[in-house]
Amino acid sequence: MSRNYPPGYCPDHCSGGQPSRQMAVHDEVLKRFPEEARAEAQAHGGARRCTYCGLVYLHPIKQLGGRLGFWNSGVRGEGWSK
Ligand SMILES: [Zn+2]
Repeated sequence: MSRNYPPGYCPDHCSGGQPSRQMAVHDEVLKRFPEEARAEAQAHGGARRCTYCGLVYLHPIKQLGGRLGFWNSGVRGEGWSK
């Protein structure tokens, strides 16, 4: 059975991914990402991060291929992971 998620919910539908937990990734954080992820976010014009699971994704939302990786995820650990 599928749930309905409100607009702006974490794309991974994590248990704590309310829209209020989705934050814009600022340049200070962006420059600590791997080059590939940083370049993709900059080319797209922005990225967001779910502060609950750590997922970083392109914003405005892309239907396909918008997930870049995880940053300081409570589940996956500090730093970058995919
Ligand atoms: Zn999430």
